[in-house]
Amino acid sequence: MALPATIALACNRTLPEFDDIYSIGAEHRVLCGYSVDDKNSVSIDALNAGFERARAQRETVHLYAHKPSGTVQSSTIESVVAGASDRGLAYVTYRELAMGAVPNKGALALSFDDHAVSEWHAMLPMFAQYHARVTFFVSAFQFGTPQDRAMLHELAAAGHDIEYHSTNHFNAEQYSAANGVEGYVANDIEPGLAAMRADGFDPVAFAYPFGARTEMTDAALLTKFTLLRAIHYTCPR
Ligand SMILES: [Zn+2]
Repeated sequence: MALPATIALACNRTLPEFDDIYSIGAEHRVLCGYSVDDKNSVSIDALNAGFERARAQRETVHLYAHKPSGTVQSSTIESVVAGASDRGLAYVTYRELAMGAVPNKGALALSFDDHAVSEWHAMLPMFAQYHARVTFFVSAFQFGTPQDRAMLHELAAAGHDIEYHSTNHFNAEQYSAANGVEGYVANDIEPGLAAMRADGFDPVAFAYPFGARTEMTDAALLTKFTLLRAIHYTCPR
């Protein structure tokens, strides 16, 4: 499907200029991603220009999406991975960043949010073909089927990273304004996190639903996670 020319052109000019989606490893504890879901109409040229920047400046570029063949065409995900691989970028997961791994060259931190586990799992052969490793930020873990959990373990066994994206997908800014940060943590962080840990996962990074965050939610969550992922539009920088 062709992109509207004006939107594609605008993104061509802007993606390499969004300084907040580039980092040197995990120099910040709140990292910010840019969505490559279809609705954002990020052109392949814009993505490749972003990868060129990351390579030239030895930065990690942070991109994310949700559901392959749902919110984002699978072919777009393959274009992202192929573009990064063609430019020699490394792949880095949020766990590696949390552990202090700083790639010594440009890198791509690609992540997927929510719980489209079957669609993620279907991408395994493509990721393997490009030696790509990505991070899955999982929400609603406790509502998943045993098959979902098995597929998440298979993704982890293949070298991908399973991290956390909330229990009920609440908006942290709005929910904590109404219920306090403690209420937010008790109701939208603790239950799903406990369920993941009980199933053998050990999340060290959290991606905010909607990217919605405040300084107070950052402070509370950084006692539970090493890294937080916000988005370009809510980045604290
Ligand atoms: Zn989400």
